[in-house]
This record gives sequence, C-alpha cells and structure tokens, in this order.
Amino acid sequence: MESRRLFFDIVGRLSDLPQVNMIRCGIWKPRTHPGGFEGLGEEALRWVDEARQHYPTLRFCCEVANPTHVEAALRHGIDAVWIGARTTGNPFSMGELAESLRGCRLPVLVKNAPAPDVEPWMGAIERLLSVGIGEIMAVHRGFSTYNAGDLRNDPLWQIPIELHRRMPDMPLLCDPSHIAGHRDKVAQIAQMALDMGFDGLMVECHPSPEDALTDASQQLTPDALAAMLSHLSLRQDDADKAERLLHNLRSRIDEVDHQLLALLQERMQISREIAQTKSENNISIVQNSRWDYVLNSRMMAARKMGINEGFVKEVFEKIHAESVRVQVEGD
Ligand code: PEP
Ligand code: MN
Repeated sequence: MESRRLFFDIVGRLSDLPQVNMIRCGIWKPRTHPGGFEGLGEEALRWVDEARQHYPTLRFCCEVANPTHVEAALRHGIDAVWIGARTTGNPFSMGELAESLRGCRLPVLVKNAPAPDVEPWMGAIERLLSVGIGEIMAVHRGFSTYNAGDLRNDPLWQIPIELHRRMPDMPLLCDPSHIAGHRDKVAQIAQMALDMGFDGLMVECHPSPEDALTDASQQLTPDALAAMLSHLSLRQDDADKAERLLHNLRSRIDEVDHQLLALLQERMQISREIAQTKSENNISIVQNSRWDYVLNSRMMAARKMGINEGFVKEVFEKIHAESVRVQVEGD
C-alpha cells in the first residue's frame, strides 16, 4: 500500500475477479536492508477500514510482526493477519505475537520460516494453537537455500507436504510470488501448487509493477493476475477415483520400495562386515579415495540411466553418512 489512490485502484480492479476473496495489504513491510520503503503503517490501515465499507464481500489481511501491529490491525477491524517468514522463524517473536492474539477470532496465516526445515513452521503454528486461534492457514513461500537455481526461493515441496501429513486438516496456501521472484514464473509455480492439492494462493499484485517500492520484479498487474487465474486448472481431489485408477501402479511402487529396503538392509550388513575388518586391521573408517570413487561412479551411472544426478548424489551422501555412523557407533 503505497498511496490511497493506488490502493483503491487495485482493490476496485481485484473486486471484479471471482477468484479473489482476500486482499493482501502491505501495511508494515519487513526489509532486508535499512532505508527502503517499510510501509505506511496505521495511516494505510485507515484506508483498509474505508475499503471494507465499499467492498463488504472482500476480506483484507496484513502482515503483523509484533503486538503493536496486532493491536493496530485489530483496532481497524482487519479480517485476517499473516505472519512473515522471518517472524515465524523467531520463537521469541512468535511467543509475543501468540500472546497478543490470545482470544482473537481472527484467522492467522503462517508463512514458513526461511530455513529449509518443517520444525520452525510447525512450532510457530503450535504456539498459535496453544492460545486458541481457531483458524490457521499455512503459507508456503519457499526456502532460503544456497542455490535456488533460477527461482528466488527454493520450493522444496517435500517440506509443505510433510507439514500437510502432520496437520492434514489445516489449509495450505502457496505464495508463488516469493518462490518465483520474477513475474514470468509466478503462473508456473502457482499451477504446480494447485496440481499438488494446495488450497489457495497468495499473490503479489501492483498496478505498475516496475514502479513498485517493494519486490518490483515479482509483482503482477491486475490484468496479468486475472489472466493467470483464468488459465490455472484445478484438479478434482477424489480419493476413490485415485485409488481405482492408481491401484496397480501403487502396488508396483510398494513392491519396489520393499526391494529398496531389502537392498539397504543388505548394504548395511556389508558395511558392518567392513567395519569389523577395518577394526581388526587398524584401517581408518573413512577412506577418501574409495568414497570419491563410489560417489562419482554412482552419479555417472545415474546420468546414463536418465536419473537426476543431484538427487542420486543426495541419496548416496545419506547412505554413506549412515554407513559411517554404523561403522563408528556400531549400530
Ligand atoms: C511478503 O509477503 O511480502 C514478505 C515479506 O514475504 P516473506 O515473509 O515470505 O519473506
Ligand atoms: Mn514481498
């Protein structure tokens, strides 16, 4: 929210889109470096108040990072709040925020923390559950990793999938803007999220993206947002149909997984025998040249077999780490 005119312009245009039921309002903006636009604060909340009278079917939500934000947002009748990635990752901030929200009926959206780990996300949600927040939604905004390729944040889909496994009733939204980092890639990330069964999207939108005071490269115009929403396809989630169609393939996966486990068991047994021989002959556990050979040869084989090399590298690093652990600890 950069000015009253800009805000009413965008809300007016988004109110025509049937898929939009909540407006994300940038009231307080966390910035990595000092000196940037940090939002207009309470002044902008007054425009939200006004907009709610004009557009009674729309809901308005904003980020809150401390109890002062919560109090101001509540005073101005905000419909929902979200907790930003950097706040989610801070247990002290989460404790204070949860306390200030105790007894509120407000829905709270919780973005994942930047670290590629499900635990801080889960912990933040638990703090909100413990003060009785009834409606919580998780928002997947990708993770800060050393190399996210051509995206801004690494999606690491397995982490939101794990959260969903642990908390199956909690709605899961995706923020494709912060994952993509660039407007050209927002639609493709949004479609992936919907294909995986996410329940909704949080998308950044600005009438003239190039001039936006924050995250200019990832903002979509209202027209681009409308086009994206009309092109996205939704899959029907029908567990019976999935079971009927996938029964045979799922049985084969089950069989292959059992074979993988049996092979891993056999490999660990061989490792124990190696450990025994090394110990009896005073040979050190990690032999660098051997590990180098194992990793390189497996990756080369993976390439020939058309399996993703990075994936195979990670699998063998995990297997090797476990093998070393067993050799060191004995089981
Ligand atoms: C935002 O939603 O504008 C934002 C700052 O995102 P995040 O908390 O995911 O970094
Ligand atoms: Mn942003």
